Amino acid sequence: MSALFQNYARRPVHLVQGKGTIVTDDTGKEYLDFTSGIAVLSLGHANPAVVQAIQQQSEKLWHTSNLFESPEQEKLAATLVKETHLSHAFFCNSGAEANEAAIKMARKHTGKNIIITFEKSFHGRTFGAMSATGQDKIRQGFGPLLETFRTIPFNDIQALDAAIDSDVAAIMLEVIQGEGGINKISPEFAQAVADICESKDILLIIDEVQTGIARTGTRYAYEQTVLKPDIMTLAKGLGGGFPIGAMLGTSALYDTFSPGTHGTTFGGNPLAVAVAQTVLDNVFTTKFLNAVNEKSAYFLDKLKTALPNHQIVGSGLLLGIKCEEEVAPTIEKAEQNGLLLVSAGPNVIRLLPPLTVKKEEIDQAVNILSSILM
Ligand SMILES: *Cc1c(COP(=O)(O)O)cnc(C)c1O
Repeated sequence: MSALFQNYARRPVHLVQGKGTIVTDDTGKEYLDFTSGIAVLSLGHANPAVVQAIQQQSEKLWHTSNLFESPEQEKLAATLVKETHLSHAFFCNSGAEANEAAIKMARKHTGKNIIITFEKSFHGRTFGAMSATGQDKIRQGFGPLLETFRTIPFNDIQALDAAIDSDVAAIMLEVIQGEGGINKISPEFAQAVADICESKDILLIIDEVQTGIARTGTRYAYEQTVLKPDIMTLAKGLGGGFPIGAMLGTSALYDTFSPGTHGTTFGGNPLAVAVAQTVLDNVFTTKFLNAVNEKSAYFLDKLKTALPNHQIVGSGLLLGIKCEEEVAPTIEKAEQNGLLLVSAGPNVIRLLPPLTVKKEEIDQAVNILSSILM
């Protein structure tokens, strides 16, 4: 019997080393890692800049707590909000924690309790984030959920109109639902959300834990829509593999969290901040973003040619292959053939290479996929 709880269905592969897109298991077998640790390894495995950042910081200072001032956090926050309408950041350790901060912020700022969320959304596993998540399989068995969430169908303007009343503090959404099947917000629905938030004075929380940090080809996915979040949450790709999350907000929210109202021991610790700063310094450049978009277009084109009978969905390097059948057996076959993949819901194969993936690696992945799916 395992000494671990059974909450993960672990695959029988023990990965011991990684470099760029390639990982090696304990038998020496190599794989192309098109999971990136679930959209985490923005710069791939063992990126030299990231390795150097963590080495240098680990010799200087690991941890101080948030009792002391942190110019490093200030700089990271400024980098995140640069050239956006957002102005402040709070750092934590994970996506769920960032969403908890967002939920608390929205409730405290508005004095209202209801937050509208969407079916097939995913916001994390803590009690608030789980209650916000529109998937029964994630919520079942845990007793009464927080009553704060009103969960409605995604991209359904009528349902949205019907859900709005004077108790609504915020609307919380993913621009592309990552875990829920790579479902994009429609332009019409995005416009309806923007209009309702504006006319009814409702806050917009965008969960960019998966889509943020250039995963979809822009720094943040909301930039590809008409939406402008009051609050945005980040995690996954921000640390390039080191745990860090963030909640960003507009200046209108600055006074809502006064000292003592919210916090975390580890959040934004010097090691995490040094790594995240290095990730952003590399990723938030026009050259890097252009390269992501170029590789995305290349990947899409190859996939469409190789798999003419499948619908390809997503943006940037958050892509998906829609399948009629359940995808778990395909993912297993790909693994045997040296390609690591993850699903998005039961019927979508999710493709999440590191943002530094090479074109040859995309070619190899498409060859493996087409040999299995054709
Ligand atoms: C992964 C994810 C989360 C949860 O992040 P954790 O770091 O696992 O807590 C929240 N929202 C979205 C959109 C995610 O993809």
